[in-house]
Amino acid sequence: MERAETNNGRGWDLEADVIVIGSGAAGLPAAIKAVEGGASVIVVETNYDIGGHAILSGGHMALGGGTSAQKKYGILDSPDTVFSDLTDWTIVQPNGWPDYRYNDRAVMRAFADHCALTYEFLLANGVEFKDVPPDNHGASTTGNSAPRENHAFWTKGAGLESPNAAAGTGVIRPLEASARAKGVRFLLNYKMTSIVREPSTERRRIGCVIGITVEYTPRIMPGATTPLKSFRSDGNIESTKLTMNLRATKAVIVATGGSTSNLNFRRMFDPRLTAMLQVGGEPYSYQDASGELAAMAVGASLWGLVNQTLENGATIRTQRALATKYNYVAWKVESPIFPLVRATGFNVKDWQDVILVNQVGKRFYDETKGDPPHGNLGHQIDPYTPNDYRNSENIKFNPTKHNFFNAAMAMNEYSEPPDYCAGPMWAIFDADAVQREGWKVVPPYVDPDGYFFTANTLTELAAAIDNEYQPKPMRGATLQATVERYNSFVDAGADADFGKPTPKYKIQTPPFYAAWATPVVHDTRAGLRINEKCQVIDMNGIVIPGLYCAGESAGGFNQHGMGRCATQGYISGMNAAAEPRHE
Ligand SMILES: Cc1cc2nc3c(=O)[nH]c(=O)nc-3n(C[C@H](O)[C@H](O)[C@H](O)COP(=O)(O)OP(=O)(O)OC[C@H]3O[C@@H](n4cnc5c(N)ncnc54)[C@H](O)[C@@H]3O)c2cc1C
Repeated sequence: MERAETNNGRGWDLEADVIVIGSGAAGLPAAIKAVEGGASVIVVETNYDIGGHAILSGGHMALGGGTSAQKKYGILDSPDTVFSDLTDWTIVQPNGWPDYRYNDRAVMRAFADHCALTYEFLLANGVEFKDVPPDNHGASTTGNSAPRENHAFWTKGAGLESPNAAAGTGVIRPLEASARAKGVRFLLNYKMTSIVREPSTERRRIGCVIGITVEYTPRIMPGATTPLKSFRSDGNIESTKLTMNLRATKAVIVATGGSTSNLNFRRMFDPRLTAMLQVGGEPYSYQDASGELAAMAVGASLWGLVNQTLENGATIRTQRALATKYNYVAWKVESPIFPLVRATGFNVKDWQDVILVNQVGKRFYDETKGDPPHGNLGHQIDPYTPNDYRNSENIKFNPTKHNFFNAAMAMNEYSEPPDYCAGPMWAIFDADAVQREGWKVVPPYVDPDGYFFTANTLTELAAAIDNEYQPKPMRGATLQATVERYNSFVDAGADADFGKPTPKYKIQTPPFYAAWATPVVHDTRAGLRINEKCQVIDMNGIVIPGLYCAGESAGGFNQHGMGRCATQGYISGMNAAAEPRHE
């Protein structure tokens, strides 16, 4: 174990110029940029391996402003266009929610100016994107003037071990390799528990951030005796010490990925986001707000909070897989964390095959309608004139189209004190639906331990539904009545309750099934207040010296995903490395 010199009576276990907390889409670029700037760097990561949500992601990456890919395919774009797009107050989604209105202008200008630079930086550090014209596939809140979405990919066996065979691995593993080759050290299995800031003194009027504390967080899967190991170990700092103090002689960068896994934190923005909602990216990594809370404890402010509450973007998503608790991605049995996930789940090809009911056993929506809007609107706003209030004349408003979550989180008979939780959602279907869809309704495809139930009658099925989120048994008579009414809609050829287009199939052939189908919290869109350098700002509007933030933990920027995170990683790493060393 290396041991740095004691500072101000504090025992420091490790020291680097720049300490980056988190190794995801923001943390790795921050670390590389800082080391390229001449700083020594330690990345602290609570997980057993690097990557966070980013390594599980779809690898679609929104970076424009005049990238080499845009130029190659003749797409006109510039930093000014990105800035204009992402501050255009006139853009609203079909449900009326504005995408860019509440973005912080300074944060957006910095993003616009460094967006294309970050794209080239990623290429220079080994990331490969498909050689196709940038488009809008997978895009969300990336602006209306130019296609900006680039697509990474993952190839099995190419030395890019993935926790779930995701394209995002094609972004993250090359960055990791580059960081390690350039001398970045990794302290895995350690969680930052607090940020150390010196008090303000007469000599130094505003106290600097000088380090962090960490605690050991090895991950041992159910049934195993030893902790999970990272794919690569070169550059890892090995330790099993329970707690440590890490000194940062220049700066600390918070890149901890946001707050959606923190129940109380996320409910500050929307009290309806109760415990039954799982988080996309769990149980590989958690957005537990530890970065925000530690920074707030040393005076940091939050920012742009409205962006978290907006009912647009990918902030909350419908489930992708049924019958498994972690239902946003289809988990692979080979995943090292599969013992926690327990089931792959299965996808629905045709939503005519199921009905969705709430915790009481009642339908609430047209099952064939999907996520709230989160794409770009260019095709819908035609003509589009930036910042012209008349753009709204060309938006096809449809307030009912995207009300899934409001309907799903509506009060019902079981919504009781103290939280009045709307409860979980269940997909109900029969043996014929299983045949039509070709589902395998046995483990490991389904999780019979609370997330998938079977019975020969609907009454028995209702009684069987039971897990930590179902507050009390669904009444058999209610579920029976729901299904009978739905079956009558199939006879009538019309859904008199929720307008599902021509309900096709009756639910009538036993056995009957109930599969977990509760939506997922996905993105953090609000966090710590930062300036254009990604320096964290306190409640008085003053920079906290030595503290930076990037990615989903940073506020002021309503955009989905890795583009903004990597760009802010780039900006924060560059500026952190340029800080003077504390005496
Ligand atoms: C399934 C899925 C698919 C997605 N697909 C896309 C896509 O196609 N395109 C796109 O642009 N975006 C996508 N996203 C979103 C994207 O992955 C995230 O926006 C991005 O990874 C956020 O970057 P980040 O660095 O802020 O956080 P993360 O990438 O989550 O990294 C944060 C890291 O910090 C660590 N950490 C947290 N707290 C601490 C602590 N106290 N101490 C030490 N370490 C800590 C975490 O363990 C984690 O490794 C997807 C997300 C998911 C979950």
